[in-house]
Amino acid sequence: MRPFVFEQIRSPSEAFAATAGNASYLAGGTTLLDLMKLDVMQPERVVDINPLDQTGAGEIRASEKGLHLGALARMADAADHPDIRDQYPVIAQALMLAASQQIRNMASLGGNVLQRTRCTYFRDTSYVACNKRNPGSGCAALTGFNRSHAVLGTSDDCIATYAGDFAQALIALDATVETTGADGGRSLPFAALHRKPGQTPDQETNLKPSELIVAFTVPAKPWAKRSLYLKIRDRESYEFALASAAVALDMENGTVRDTRIALGGVATVPWRSITAEALLRGQSLDDTVLQSVADAAFAGARGAGHNDFKIALGKRTLVRALKQAAALEI
Ligand code: SF4
Repeated sequence: MRPFVFEQIRSPSEAFAATAGNASYLAGGTTLLDLMKLDVMQPERVVDINPLDQTGAGEIRASEKGLHLGALARMADAADHPDIRDQYPVIAQALMLAASQQIRNMASLGGNVLQRTRCTYFRDTSYVACNKRNPGSGCAALTGFNRSHAVLGTSDDCIATYAGDFAQALIALDATVETTGADGGRSLPFAALHRKPGQTPDQETNLKPSELIVAFTVPAKPWAKRSLYLKIRDRESYEFALASAAVALDMENGTVRDTRIALGGVATVPWRSITAEALLRGQSLDDTVLQSVADAAFAGARGAGHNDFKIALGKRTLVRALKQAAALEI
């Protein structure tokens, strides 16, 4: 690992000053330290923001209006929170199915949504061609082994999969991201946080330099309680999704009044399928409807060879998740 300067800060304003130039925030460190050891990330300064926990930045609060998740809350604490398990089960499940218990104990919610891709060619610096790590160098995955790569939201410059789970739950539940920065605080829809790769895969979010995520807010909506996260992977534990679905249903007498659908493991960003949601509203969940919803969710999907199977797998995952959510007794 390259040498770096380590700083601890006690207030956001100290953080903005400390991260001018080539610096990275450190919360749980479960992604950052890995990538520094691999020489993929090379910050000259590492700014430890964990002391902000003393100011309430790790707080979890549920009220009748919704849920407040402090960005420094640990994944394990949110996954185990009784109000989240009861009222927003898709969040608890997405967190519980991610990583290992040890990592969940360390990793922060803010860091989790910003985790980097698992693309082998991104993480192994012996491969020169990676537009995300080395802009303008090409994409080794397009002609390489791309079984884990994305089929939705790809570009000719990058097909890397967004690796997280929690983000799918947030995007499905209409969450908002609260940030603070040198220009003040702002709120943005979670759907506006991540950027599709396009021609600039190195730019992964719409955060400004030094801008810090401080919290997520999730509105209390009728579909949140009947929500579910289904994750399909090569092994049952400590593995990233080949395909996943975060679904939420508001049902009345077997008919879908409203719904939210997000997909993971198959897309370059946390992926909300608004077209599929529109098709499902007002319908009962019979096999014909579910197939058309799944087809709509993957309209425009593009395989790169080894990952072609994800289109069929992703559709089946979504159909199964919707059936399981509809069958929940709440
Ligand atoms: Fe790099 Fe993206 Fe290509 Fe992977 S898919 S090698 S991250 S440009």
